[in-house]
Amino acid sequence: MSQQFDPSLVRQSYRCELVEELRSTGSKVVGDVTLLIPKSLGFCWGVDRALAMVQEARVEYGARPMWLISSIIHNPRVNADLRDQGIGFLRGEYSLESAWENLSENDVVIVPAFSATVEDMDHLRDRGVAIVDTTCPWVIKPHKRTLRYVKEGFTTVIHGTVGHEETEATCSLILSEGGHFVVVYSIQEAECLAAFIEGEANTDELVGSLRSGSFSLGFDFDVHMQHLGVINQTTMLASESRAIGERLRVALSNRDGEAELENNFRDFDTICRATQDNQDAAAVVAEKNPDLYLVVGGYDSSNTKNLARVGQRLGVPSFHIEGPHCLGEQIEYRHRSSGEILQRGDWLPSVRPLSVAFSAGASTPDTLLGEVIERLLELS
Ligand code: SF4
Repeated sequence: MSQQFDPSLVRQSYRCELVEELRSTGSKVVGDVTLLIPKSLGFCWGVDRALAMVQEARVEYGARPMWLISSIIHNPRVNADLRDQGIGFLRGEYSLESAWENLSENDVVIVPAFSATVEDMDHLRDRGVAIVDTTCPWVIKPHKRTLRYVKEGFTTVIHGTVGHEETEATCSLILSEGGHFVVVYSIQEAECLAAFIEGEANTDELVGSLRSGSFSLGFDFDVHMQHLGVINQTTMLASESRAIGERLRVALSNRDGEAELENNFRDFDTICRATQDNQDAAAVVAEKNPDLYLVVGGYDSSNTKNLARVGQRLGVPSFHIEGPHCLGEQIEYRHRSSGEILQRGDWLPSVRPLSVAFSAGASTPDTLLGEVIERLLELS
């Protein structure tokens, strides 16, 4: 399978003139509504690449049955488009029963941009399927770094989400090499870890304050908290990742002394460029204090969730929505902390002129963002 790809294959199919115009101008006044858009938003290089590789594989493998493990990226619209093209799903809502167990040499399986676990890759190799590996090179960066930590005898602290495919893949890689990990989701969870390191919390308190599945199997708190190396799931909030690294550095310094940090602490920024660019650009727009800030992307998309947090941190009324169907008399949105999908009225400010800022996750097609903008204009 060629690693070359043609992003225009993807960009053409999800092209939206309104979004292109806004991208080049940054803003547009329509009636008494000002639309604001950040310099960087939407599809990233890794998503373009993954989708283009799928299209190339369809040509290369012709009529052979083609499968996705669960989804190619975290966007329902894009996954539905692939389903319409006849690509099957091995796991999740649209999967066929026993398809995973019954894979054979005639099948083609697409590994998603966020990678797959060691166990899943072993299964695919055992079944002899043709593998189209679209793992984003940015995702390989934390993999390489954690292998180095394992080799040095360090426990990996992952700023990530338990259950997210990318973090699951990283955890399985660490375990397969005989290493250990702790996953922390937020600065609050990192504080709990720091309190334990500084002797201010015991094991039960620490385990109780982190999510189930945060520690590797067989984690020994006396042994595996001595040497720590930090990495990030590529799509986390960059400012929070930096704060977590710094908090753990201070905790180890408090416990063992500054001079020991060279021997017991490592920190390596593995946030991807697209995530960083989208967050920085979203902050610039949110700082203009729009009356409303809408972030468009799949509810399970990590980078979209963090784009929504950028607005909330700056005190702008912000909503993470999945598409135009979320906007009506009520708004459907994902709650930032609980993750619940909620509805509420009175979401559209009555002030005129009205300024509305938008952003979109790295897996959100321009067409979907364009439909959201059109819907907003209709309603206002
Ligand atoms: S968000 Fe970053 S890590 Fe994920 S696919 Fe895009 S470029 Fe790769």
